[in-house]
Amino acid sequence: MGSGFQLFHTVPGGGRRGRLNLPHGTVETPVFMPVGTAATVKAVDQRTLETLGESAAGAQIILANTYHLYLRPGHELIRRLGGVHRFMSWDRPMLTDSGGFQVFSLSQLRTITPEGVEFRSHLDGSKHFFSPEHSMGVQIALGADILMAFDECVEHPASYERTRDSLGLTHAWAERSVRYFAEHKHEVPWFEARDGQTQRLFGIVQGGMYPDLRRESAARLVEMDLPGYAIGGLAVGEPREVTRDMIARTLEWLPQDKPRYVMGVGYPDEIEEYARMGVDMMDCVLPTRSGRHGLVFARLDGELTRLNLKKLEFAEDRRPIDPACTCPVCRRYTRAYLRHLFSSGEPLAASLLSIHNLSFYLDTMERVRRDLAGTGLPQESESSQATSTPAA
Ligand SMILES: [Zn+2]
Repeated sequence: MGSGFQLFHTVPGGGRRGRLNLPHGTVETPVFMPVGTAATVKAVDQRTLETLGESAAGAQIILANTYHLYLRPGHELIRRLGGVHRFMSWDRPMLTDSGGFQVFSLSQLRTITPEGVEFRSHLDGSKHFFSPEHSMGVQIALGADILMAFDECVEHPASYERTRDSLGLTHAWAERSVRYFAEHKHEVPWFEARDGQTQRLFGIVQGGMYPDLRRESAARLVEMDLPGYAIGGLAVGEPREVTRDMIARTLEWLPQDKPRYVMGVGYPDEIEEYARMGVDMMDCVLPTRSGRHGLVFARLDGELTRLNLKKLEFAEDRRPIDPACTCPVCRRYTRAYLRHLFSSGEPLAASLLSIHNLSFYLDTMERVRRDLAGTGLPQESESSQATSTPAA
């Protein structure tokens, strides 16, 4: 099966303009993916999601969290209702994470064995067990376009020895994820393979902040010849230069003809920088989480700025959040009104601020895609890039 990825242009800095063909549609890359934790991008409805951004093209692909949906409402219920797409009425591409990150960051009393992880739910303390096979089973039932291999996320900072040992587990779990996925991916009869595109599984490069471990991790996963690769375990509290360095190095070790996805980053200037380095996909809760806390992004006098709308200085400010932003919030409402909504605890505040922030992120990526398309050198052969070839 091909990776469904076409590369159109690559610029000298590494940035690439591409297209990912998925069962629920095509995704123009580089792309930012809003996070829809519990089958909802918090405070933003699906119709709005479909129309966000300068071109009103909306979010091309969103994320859903396996751990959250497994606990509530349960993946078997979602399977019976025809998958997350039908459940939430979203007909565009979707990616589910493996649940690993949440198991390690949210749940209590974890016991990790080579078999998997036993943990207690952060909701009610009930006991659960996640293995690579179980994570795959849940993700297949959820029915996303892209699934992620189950990995161990080490805490930060972690010693070299701890990170190396964890990597052994992550690679063994990736192999088990691949095997289980290959054997069971056809178990959701309602999943339509449109244009020959089916559910696909990406691997996750780990290795903490140690370049040689990252290199080894990339090499092991590339051997598995997966249709895409994520760089995980970053933006966990390390300095930004380290994040950037780890991304730059890891990109070198990943195949050019496969999509590369950096998980859980970042600020608007970071997603722009990483996209220009050759990262094709990114996701982050920042636009929505910041919005719910009264924080909004703007480009004022050419500078990326984060405004805290809670501040008194905005009480009589008649300007929109960002005068250059074309989102429905900036076209209609003043900072003064948004501040009032927020300080009064009105639910509309979370919604409007999230809509602006998401628009800001999507516009940033749209601008990067335009730049990459305009300045890049044509790829020597598009058709050869669209098929998956065994990695050298
Ligand atoms: Zn706006």
